[in-house]
Amino acid sequence: THQLEIRNLHASVGDQPILKGINLVVPRGELHAIMGPNGNGKSTLAKVLVGDPEYTVTEGEVLVDGQNILEMEPDERARLGLFLAFQYPVEIPGVTIANFLRLALQARKPEGEEVSFTEFYGKLQKALAILEWDESIVERYLNEGFSGGEKKRNEILQMLMLEPTYIIMDETDSGLDVDALKIVAKGVNSLRGENLGGLIITHYQRLLNYIVPDRVHIIVDGRVVQTGGPELAQRLDAEGYDWVKELAGA
Ligand code: ADP
Ligand code: MG
Ligand code: MG
Repeated sequence: THQLEIRNLHASVGDQPILKGINLVVPRGELHAIMGPNGNGKSTLAKVLVGDPEYTVTEGEVLVDGQNILEMEPDERARLGLFLAFQYPVEIPGVTIANFLRLALQARKPEGEEVSFTEFYGKLQKALAILEWDESIVERYLNEGFSGGEKKRNEILQMLMLEPTYIIMDETDSGLDVDALKIVAKGVNSLRGENLGGLIITHYQRLLNYIVPDRVHIIVDGRVVQTGGPELAQRLDAEGYDWVKELAGA
């Protein structure tokens, strides 16, 4: 079974429960949107999926292609093909984008197998072309002095280089202008197909005009309260979140 399956997932920060029984199945080949009002657990879900130690899973399972990942370290999860695009990307002083990408690709290889220069450079050229980015960018230090748009583009560059099987994108649209949004979407859409599944987490419908999701799930108070097609995102855009909060009894 090639799918990301979340079963009855409960998670807390300290002793405060935040996720209260999330159930979701995302077949590989599909991108699902996660929407919902602010402060209801969307980012917590993303962080739990990649293994952020600040969150404690108290119940439930997360299966990636049938393997429970909750006991795995973040880098093991990454090697399984899970990729998280962060809401707030990190700066790593003194590391160029080129170095970083090279290391990230190497980390995904089985032990003893080298990333060849030809493989690296070939992938890089292709990815930069999709992102309409000049090659000189890879000599810059990772995220240092980058604009919001450049940081996002750099995340998508990482994604294109690593060719993940499941992506988790959290609020990738926040603070982006339409041109940057279109480039991000172009990158994600270029990976779409039967080998890619994942979650696109967003409060607003805007990004979903460009990355049209196969399904949309709404999270309120740590649970999925509604699931539908792309039209559900349109409805939220038009009507806001009041009606879903009522559904949740909030
Ligand atoms: P969303 O992404 O839907 O806006 P979050 O998952 O970021 O929501 O947050 C859900 C709730 O959990 C909020 O009440 C938030 O304050 C709380 N929360 C999330 N992460 C932490 C944390 N690291 N420490 C304390 N509270 C947190
Ligand atoms: Mg938030
Ligand atoms: Mg959030």
